[in-house]
Amino acid sequence: MNVPLVLPRFLDRAVALYGDKEAAYCDDRVFTYREINERVNRLSHGLQDLGIKKGDHVAYLASNTVEMFEGFYGVYQLGGIMVPLNIRLKPEDYLFILNHSESKVLFVDQDLYDFIVPIKDRLETVEHIIVHYKDKETPEIDYDAWLERYSADAFNRAELDENDVCSLLYTSGTTGNPKGVMLTHRNNYLHALSTMHHFRITDRDVYLHVLPMFHVNGWGTPFSYTANGATHVFLRKATPAAIHNLVKARKVTVLNMAPTVLNALLEHHAKNPVEFEQDVRTFIAGSAPPPAFVTRVEQELGWEFIQIYGMTECSPVSAISRIRSSLPELSPSEQAKVKAKAGYPMIGCELKVVDENGEEVAHNGKEIGEVVYRGHGTMLGYWKNEEATMETIRNGWLHTGDMATIDENGYIDIVDRKKDVIISGGENISSIEVEGVLYEHPAILEAAVIAAPHEKWGETPHAIVVLKENQHVTEEEIIKFSRERLAHFKAVTGVTFVEELPKTASGKIQKVHLRNDHWKAQGKGERLV
Ligand code: ATP
Ligand code: MG
Repeated sequence: MNVPLVLPRFLDRAVALYGDKEAAYCDDRVFTYREINERVNRLSHGLQDLGIKKGDHVAYLASNTVEMFEGFYGVYQLGGIMVPLNIRLKPEDYLFILNHSESKVLFVDQDLYDFIVPIKDRLETVEHIIVHYKDKETPEIDYDAWLERYSADAFNRAELDENDVCSLLYTSGTTGNPKGVMLTHRNNYLHALSTMHHFRITDRDVYLHVLPMFHVNGWGTPFSYTANGATHVFLRKATPAAIHNLVKARKVTVLNMAPTVLNALLEHHAKNPVEFEQDVRTFIAGSAPPPAFVTRVEQELGWEFIQIYGMTECSPVSAISRIRSSLPELSPSEQAKVKAKAGYPMIGCELKVVDENGEEVAHNGKEIGEVVYRGHGTMLGYWKNEEATMETIRNGWLHTGDMATIDENGYIDIVDRKKDVIISGGENISSIEVEGVLYEHPAILEAAVIAAPHEKWGETPHAIVVLKENQHVTEEEIIKFSRERLAHFKAVTGVTFVEELPKTASGKIQKVHLRNDHWKAQGKGERLV
């Protein structure tokens, strides 16, 4: 008999093999896997009592907490579909997503509830709002008291097929309006198996949730770490100090985040150095880090650095940059360069870099093409957007919109998002490459390079820069610095100094906003792509 690959089975395994083990730390609370399972059962009973049934959408507007974690399992065993919401959006965005997704219930943390107040009257499908950490008088349901009312006994599960949708995940919106990506149980189940292998997850691991769980479930971590009986440490506000303290205090062994967050952590660590007693590995994804940064993480924090590449539409992770034993011997600086690449395909994933005609580019680390994906992670499609689905998945290959090279060893290196490439005098310039050089400047904390309109060349690279505390450098000095290290057509032609850069909740720099603002300020309207 075929046993369907459905996600509740991961929690079953954890309860059977690790029932009394610490499953989760959240603030000052500790839960075993058995206790989590009881809360999950109460949640499923409660949702059933509210009339929620298989195929219904349940939205979460929550930070990384045990309440959000148990939500996945509580909703799934009922056959419901999770709609996790990005906590950094505006009320009108929530209105759009909640109505568009046709969510019936909304779970919300008390400190995020204010976002819902202005839109409450315009919600078309939400029938119940349930508040976590409720400490204010509102007409909504108090989660803790509500959960208590229901039985912790086993829930009579909905019949689940592995091809049933489990999550509707709205993309980060780095490049425009978020789209609802439909992922199935099978997508997430096989992704979890693949990451367990490639991330070497064991029952001795302690995983710190820095990446938000609403963001492709923090790269599928509620599933892969649970299945192995690892311990989850939840973090409501991912400040560098909090990450630093928890890694030390809870003996965290694995965490993943965007390079911008790790960069802030390095700054914090430089001022507050501590010794970590355990081996730590950190997975970086979301944007390409400069190779110099890889070395800093390994030398200053003493953590193993691993780059991964993923996108919501692929469930999400599809490539890893670990150095393979079959590679020739590499010097430390060559190793850092390899680790800073997106890497090679993980088990169950195929990746190609193709030109405009769909032909693979040469494996020489030079020719640029678009990354296309095929594998177990391919989304079912965009919710209520057949046109965008057909545009993205063509002839079985998912078109990522990411431009890359591929080298003779099969390592893919992301050059840029299609929309971020700067086209100067007919030459394509990678904003990531230019940023990599700027990050070598000792005064620069963060840098984003965008296309700026130019009379003669069409576009030229323009840097938007945040300086480190008490550091000074002029625009001319930065231009000179980049001209000394890059071909002149790639060097920045202007610099804007800012206090901070706009970022998505997962820490990605939103270059589309910077570019639009810059073009408008130049009286050019918006850039066309
Ligand atoms: P939207 O699609 O709404 O604009 P988004 O693409 O940022 O948002 P995600 O699916 O969370 O939403 O992110 C996937 C994208 O992140 C990839 O397509 C790629 O551009 C970028 N990315 C992910 N990993 C890496 C990496 N290791 N190096 C460079 N870029 C990466
Ligand atoms: Mg995207």
